[in-house]
Amino acid sequence: MASLRQQIATTALTLTKFRELMRRMQENRPQDDLSIIKKAYDFSLKYHEGQSRASGDPYLVHPLEVALVLAEMKMDPVAVVAGLLHDSVEDTSVTIGDIGKEFGEQVAHIVEGVTKISKIDFATREEQQAENLRKMMLAMVDDIRVVLIKLADRLHNMRTLEHLPPERQNKIAQETLEIYAPIAHRLGMGKIRGELEDLGFRFIDPVGYEQVEKAVNARRKQGEAFLAKVQQTIKDKLKEAGIQAQVDSRIKRLYSIHKKLQRQRIAVDQVYDLCALRVVTRSLQDCYAVLGIIHNLWRPVPGRIKDFIAMPRPNFYQSLHTSVITEDGTPFEIQIRTEEMHKMAEEGIAAHWKYKDGPVSAQDEQRLAWLRQVVEWQRDVSDPAEFLSALKVDLYPEEVYTFTPKGKVVVLPRDATPIDFAYTIHTEVGHTCVGAKVNGRMVPLRHKLHSGDIVEIMTQPGHKPSRDWLALVKSSRSRNKIKHWLNLHQRERAIEIGRKLIDKEARKYRIPLKEIKDEDLLKVASAYGLGKVDDLMSGIGYGKYSARQVLARLLPAGPAAVAESGGERDHAGDSWEQGKPGGIASVVRRVFGDHNAITVKGQGDMLVYRARCCNPIRGESIVGYITRGKGVAVHSANCPNVTNLLYEPERRIEVEWARDESTPTAYPVKLTVFCDDRFGMLKNITGVIGDAQSNIRNIAAHTSNSQASVEVVLDISDLKHLEQIIAGLRKIPGVHEVQRLQKI
Ligand code: MN
Repeated sequence: MASLRQQIATTALTLTKFRELMRRMQENRPQDDLSIIKKAYDFSLKYHEGQSRASGDPYLVHPLEVALVLAEMKMDPVAVVAGLLHDSVEDTSVTIGDIGKEFGEQVAHIVEGVTKISKIDFATREEQQAENLRKMMLAMVDDIRVVLIKLADRLHNMRTLEHLPPERQNKIAQETLEIYAPIAHRLGMGKIRGELEDLGFRFIDPVGYEQVEKAVNARRKQGEAFLAKVQQTIKDKLKEAGIQAQVDSRIKRLYSIHKKLQRQRIAVDQVYDLCALRVVTRSLQDCYAVLGIIHNLWRPVPGRIKDFIAMPRPNFYQSLHTSVITEDGTPFEIQIRTEEMHKMAEEGIAAHWKYKDGPVSAQDEQRLAWLRQVVEWQRDVSDPAEFLSALKVDLYPEEVYTFTPKGKVVVLPRDATPIDFAYTIHTEVGHTCVGAKVNGRMVPLRHKLHSGDIVEIMTQPGHKPSRDWLALVKSSRSRNKIKHWLNLHQRERAIEIGRKLIDKEARKYRIPLKEIKDEDLLKVASAYGLGKVDDLMSGIGYGKYSARQVLARLLPAGPAAVAESGGERDHAGDSWEQGKPGGIASVVRRVFGDHNAITVKGQGDMLVYRARCCNPIRGESIVGYITRGKGVAVHSANCPNVTNLLYEPERRIEVEWARDESTPTAYPVKLTVFCDDRFGMLKNITGVIGDAQSNIRNIAAHTSNSQASVEVVLDISDLKHLEQIIAGLRKIPGVHEVQRLQKI
């Protein structure tokens, strides 16, 4: 418990700050109702009580300073209140709900946004990530005030950074230079950006900072006098030449001088553009005219003339740059551009954090210009409160910024899932992905990721991509990787099966596969119009060609002469086709015109037919079985034959009902209805079937001892349809049981 004396000191300090805040608000926004600020002050006074900063100041000084920065930016009371409360959720027992109740949803929403961003550790050693981190922060924000509060927060933290241990100083200063200063720059907040940069520089490199500072201060007076003289000379000459133009001069900021030293690897006294001049002209022709006049006045430094008008920078920055040396040997830089070019540059087109990161899309430029505009408006509009409260920002609507557990940023398209994330990390991680944790919690693979999510992918060696994933992924990269894998592996498997089938068939005639020459196989392949033996093998594997047929072509006098019955017993699924010669594909297609209703996973062009033993209908779970030369037989998963088929598990293949349900299909299904033999029973039964829009193909009734069994073959479109009809039949008075017969 703080002593009474301490309490009094705290109260006095915070009260002074609070009064300053209110005074500033009254100055800048005399029309606004400021009572909510008083309320927020009392509220945070209560919750931050007893807390103090590293400086020893009461904690409340920090939110008050942040609010003060916001007040200086002429922000509205909502933003200032949110600024006062910005640390309350993180550092006290207050919840977002409490804030909503006390101060309204808007304030709560903004505080929530600031809290969300504060939880992300933007400090990172991987420099190339900075751009993504900046984008991530902006993508997480839907109200520009969140960013402004974050900047004000950072500014005060930087101003008081000396109280933290050196390690923290370094981390925070680096984060400031990489993330916050560029964002301030992007928002057109030159003053805050400049201060953030110079403070960041001071803590990152105290020695370098002091050197630059000393050098600049030593030359400041002299520089200013020099600039005034040069400026006047130029003005006079331009007047003489009849050119109307604006001439400005300035001394550069410490951080930008420092950047220049680093970039050019020179010492402070070699920086010639400590002093810089800018001439803004009325026309493009005038730019070149001014350049000529200046080069007539002073000697240009060779290699320092840059025509960004003829060759704009990737971000559309346009200007002429030249460095000249005066008679007494002082070099300085002059930038010459039109008013329009100057406006473009000021509105963020020349934002230097961008052009260093490579080409800029026109879309990015639009956003940048728009953002600058927003900040401009905010200054000009008479009622910024109204303007700001209506303002919703969605800066990167098509991108989501996520983290690996180690803090690397992964940029994904909007609505991306953990599968997209996994494929972005590594193709193999994608293939073997079995699950994911988002922010420490297990999520399904279809879960949509959000900016700021920390995503951890769980893999399992040997796990394989699923065709269903294609519906879950958002990035074309993931989609292509999955498709590629599916094609490759289904084909590999088909080739493998094809070879096995040929081998098995050949062994019947005691011919080892090894003895069959590749060139002979190639001949057969080309007879089928195929270029490679592998194509032939995959064709056999997929069931397009029968091993027997292929072998017959290889050994013209062989298999045909051997009695079919001597071969091994075939399985029940395709025994009905046994012994039929080639050309079976067309037969199957003709008889079962519905093969389009089933697809084999990962493969579109396989010949597929429903096994006659169980006649699966749409909606039933099914398994595929690669037959010898007759394509894929599709069985109902509970068909008794399926268990029998397991003796050759390598021939099992995944199949599914085609998604395309636009082509109606009808499957003949045979039902037996056990019922009382009464008048009108048959009419009731056909009535139920007719009502369900089903077509009766055949119906027969058997009676004995006033009991009847009615066998009916009807067209069924899918499992639901069948279940509906069976349920309807069971409701008929006198019906005891309805059974489906697998075989028709
Ligand atoms: Mn803070």
